[in-house]
Amino acid sequence: MNLTCSLNDFNEAKQVIPGGVNSPVRAFRAVGGTPLFIHHAKGVHLYDEDGNRFIDFVQSWGPLLFGHCDTEIEEAIIEAVKRGCGYGAPTTLETHLAKLIISLVDGVDKIRFVSSGTEATMSAIRLARAYTQREDIIKFEGCYHGHSDSLLVSAGSGLATFGNPSSPGVPKSLTQHTLVARYNDIDSVKKCFEASGKVACVIIEPIAGNMGLVPAQKDFLKALKNLCEQEGALLILDEVMSGFRAAKDGSQSFYGIQGDLTTFGKVIGGGMPVGAFGGRKEIMNLLSPDGAVYQAGTLSGNPVAMAAGIVALSKIISNPNLYDYLETLANRLMDGFKMAAQENGILLQTAVRGSMFGFFFNQNPVYNFDDAKCSDTQMFARFHQACLEKGIYLACSQFETGFISAAMQEEHIDMAINVAREVLATIK
Ligand SMILES: *Cc1c(COP(=O)(O)O)cnc(C)c1O
Repeated sequence: MNLTCSLNDFNEAKQVIPGGVNSPVRAFRAVGGTPLFIHHAKGVHLYDEDGNRFIDFVQSWGPLLFGHCDTEIEEAIIEAVKRGCGYGAPTTLETHLAKLIISLVDGVDKIRFVSSGTEATMSAIRLARAYTQREDIIKFEGCYHGHSDSLLVSAGSGLATFGNPSSPGVPKSLTQHTLVARYNDIDSVKKCFEASGKVACVIIEPIAGNMGLVPAQKDFLKALKNLCEQEGALLILDEVMSGFRAAKDGSQSFYGIQGDLTTFGKVIGGGMPVGAFGGRKEIMNLLSPDGAVYQAGTLSGNPVAMAAGIVALSKIISNPNLYDYLETLANRLMDGFKMAAQENGILLQTAVRGSMFGFFFNQNPVYNFDDAKCSDTQMFARFHQACLEKGIYLACSQFETGFISAAMQEEHIDMAINVAREVLATIK
């Protein structure tokens, strides 16, 4: 594969942008090699600056449920741009998209739009603290909720304690209210509640997609919901990734559990930058200007993003078989990968939720971040590199989730499976 252009572009970018990228995972550090500089994309395919073509299982890290340059979404975006890129004043588009989300997700009465998932979780936590008049929060190791200071925390010496900053530049004083529990382990959450005594909220990815794909177990999530109610803490479901990806709401129909607050992003912008958080009226009404909890954004509710999101959600509503279709393809892909691994004496742990898929080179099932960390990341790196050379673009880390888009068909899945089979035979 000729990567001359990408290599030159990367070197040039590194002169003016730290690491040459504007979000670290894009630099391919976890798998080695050169990140591809993308020239354009269409449907299921990415085309890089050297003219190489790839089947894209990253989908902009989740937003592109309908693939690249979906005609209807593209038209809506162009139409919106022609009317202006934004006004800093309300439009009916915001109400329209809010109503669509509210109609699909139980327990969300009101919603506010922001420009990223990071802002959504940060604002939801502020609101939960104001509502409960408590300061501590509980998060889970391996869950990612964006890069705001108080969430950049890793477990301290043991789990179920107050966490330590996981990045330089985050003062300890900003993480001293964040406790870290173990995913799928209700006892670790109980210990956090005991250690704190004043927990405002628990924030969780109900289908964790940022440590690889690790869905919560049903019993665990039910117990977590009950525990929050019992303790008077709010449950924040972070569905920035799983929302409208795992099912036509996200996780809530599958688990039968509602969040007090729910955060969204990715799919609801149809590929444009967006985030949102919503929940019960009595909580949301505390937000400024109705209430005293301050939250704002120059580009919040941007009309171009709203227009794209409206079409994306309308397409979801008008296609009742969409998620069955996506999940069938995702299962086909993971079954195929698993079989190919087995043929070569390699153990692969796989998971699927709707259009989300994940696989670990791991001897044992993965229920939490400690389990995920036992995966063979070097094997993953070799697999990733070899698949790339054969035209399959997978997420460039063992700890990320893959995505199926509605533009895909069985033939694309089967091409990826055939590549995986060839590759696994050579790298084992
Ligand atoms: C992507 C993601 C975020 C952060 O969203 P950004 O738009 O990147 O700020 C937050 N939570 C989850 C679960 C995510 O997957």
